[in-house]
Amino acid sequence: MAIVIIRQDDKIELWKKALLAQQPDLEVYSYLEKHPKEKIDMALVWKHPNGALAPYPNLKLIASSGAGVDFIFEDDTAPKNLPITRVVDDMLAKDMSEHVLAVILSHLKNLDRYRVNQLKGIWQPMQYHRISDFTIGILGLGALGKELAGDLVKYGFKVQGWSNSQKNIQGVTSFVGEPGLGEFLKTTQILVCLLPLTEATTGILNKELFKQLPKGAFVINVARGGHLVDEDLLEMLNNGHLSGAGLDVYHQEPLPKEHAFWNHEKIQMTPHYASVSDTDSVVPQILENHNRLLNNKPLLNEVVMDKGY
Ligand code: NDP
Repeated sequence: MAIVIIRQDDKIELWKKALLAQQPDLEVYSYLEKHPKEKIDMALVWKHPNGALAPYPNLKLIASSGAGVDFIFEDDTAPKNLPITRVVDDMLAKDMSEHVLAVILSHLKNLDRYRVNQLKGIWQPMQYHRISDFTIGILGLGALGKELAGDLVKYGFKVQGWSNSQKNIQGVTSFVGEPGLGEFLKTTQILVCLLPLTEATTGILNKELFKQLPKGAFVINVARGGHLVDEDLLEMLNNGHLSGAGLDVYHQEPLPKEHAFWNHEKIQMTPHYASVSDTDSVVPQILENHNRLLNNKPLLNEVVMDKGY
């Protein structure tokens, strides 16, 4: 029984060390080293190369080392009918909440626009906004959206959220499914996307949706690039319907140099780093799931296949 780590960044050794620090007798391998493929029962993956999950005849569990699992579904060669788990972690949720709060405050207090002016040597005071005047709408009230919603309520924002099922979060108005979307958008001044990327949510941030937001609304996408129709965002920023956008995720990452987002004054970009799994914080749930797998017990944070998240 052994774990293989499959990812294309430089963090394989970091994850291996963190796993071994908490369970020294564990057999854990990088997919790049020589390893006994028939012994692997769990793959710990993050944006693995297509095909890398195929050579394991006794694989029983695919564990994402992040919150998202879209990259696993996108790999046609990944074994079907195996359970998939994802990360649900307090630190990951708090980091996301802090990131979104920073982007919102930067917008309210014009820090994004002052930075642009500074680089041009322009001294131009601008009317600032107050927290109490703003309604934040969060698409997705799951592990991350719920944490953010609670924090924004504490800071004094009016907060509403949209999800598949009704939520009961103190101070947060809950809107549900297609019938609830229009009402939700009508009063949302800052829209935050924290949906998983699925068939149903791909391209959801499009012109039709943006038009339903009040004029001057601001859009934050920290979920996945596939949620956003890039040309629609540019059109709605350029015609003044939207006042700006904060983006952390893109269709192609790194974003190609020639992409129009790079030099757009109304777009504040970060390089898909809003919230990153902390190995020490996340490893206990990975090891717990490996032990549960060995003992045929129900897994933690298992993805519901029909829903795709
Ligand atoms: P969850 O699965 O916990 O939550 C998803 C939420 O979206 C749920 O509230 C769900 O509703 C709702 N939802 C899903 N599909 C629909 C739909 N079709 N219509 C309405 N509501 C829907 O996910 P997390 O909160 O853990 O993570 C969200 C995403 O954030 C991840 O999938 C990942 O892509 C992204 N992410 C980005 C990071 C970054 O650094 N930029 C870091 C970490 C995550 P219900 O509760 O009713 O099921």
